[in-house]
Amino acid sequence: MQVLSTVREMRAACRAARQQGSLGLVPTMGALHAGHISLVRAARAQCDGVAASIFVNPTQFGPNEDFARYPRTFEQDCALLDAEGVMLVFAPPPEEMYPPGATTFVEVEGIGDRLDGASRPGHFRGVATIVAKLFHTVAPDKAFFGQKDAAQVAVLRRMVRDFNFDLELIVCPIVREPDGLALSSRNRYLSERERAQALVLSRALNAICATYHAGQKQVAPLLDAGRSIMAIEPEVRIDYLEIVDPGTLLPLTEATPGALVAIAAQVGSTRLIDNAIL
Ligand code: AMP
Repeated sequence: MQVLSTVREMRAACRAARQQGSLGLVPTMGALHAGHISLVRAARAQCDGVAASIFVNPTQFGPNEDFARYPRTFEQDCALLDAEGVMLVFAPPPEEMYPPGATTFVEVEGIGDRLDGASRPGHFRGVATIVAKLFHTVAPDKAFFGQKDAAQVAVLRRMVRDFNFDLELIVCPIVREPDGLALSSRNRYLSERERAQALVLSRALNAICATYHAGQKQVAPLLDAGRSIMAIEPEVRIDYLEIVDPGTLLPLTEATPGALVAIAAQVGSTRLIDNAIL
């Protein structure tokens, strides 16, 4: 496994890899867990070579967010990726991706301002910008993302289409703890008590899915079913709970098969997200 830190070196290594066969890209911010590894395994299964990136992207964090304290476990991450058969790791310093004076950003209008984009202004501008830069550097045949970040998937699908990126975006299912909590690098912020409280997110989603499958198709009562589960943990504050079109992220009034149920909530100082597809 080669670990590269400049765009120039990474581009050359990816070009050489693409001459041997297809190349998959798994973008991450590190602090790797089984969710990330599931993307790497999907990439290994579908591509001849796999490149992963580890970059805590400053432009997708708001001024009062956790950029500085975001977990960084670089050595451990590299050992995991090596064991999974990753060929190339791209781990640039921030100034490599954002040289002084960098003023060009990718803005996915509309979609980029919904769900997390509404709660975290500028977040998806940062995400779209860094992912576009990674796509330009690696030029993968396929890029792998998690359904865990469903709004991110919608933003990136639109960007790939609008900018004619010549790659396939592959979305992998959410990996959960046995009790239902979606894996997240931010779970390590949770105290034992918060970890227990955080279970209400997946439980609220399950309640909405069960109510939907029992025949309720109206969004308002479906959301009520979710909110009544969230109320069991009053210290967990809902940021959003919505049922939306998965492509546009616009709210629905009637739930249809494939609709996205998305939740974000604050558990202590940690913001968690989760979702389900009806
Ligand atoms: P991050 O390092 O948090 O930016 O995540 C990198 C990629 O891993 C993104 O495409 C995420 O959607 C994906 N991911 C994060 N958590 C999970 C999970 N629990 N299950 C599946 N994919 C995940």
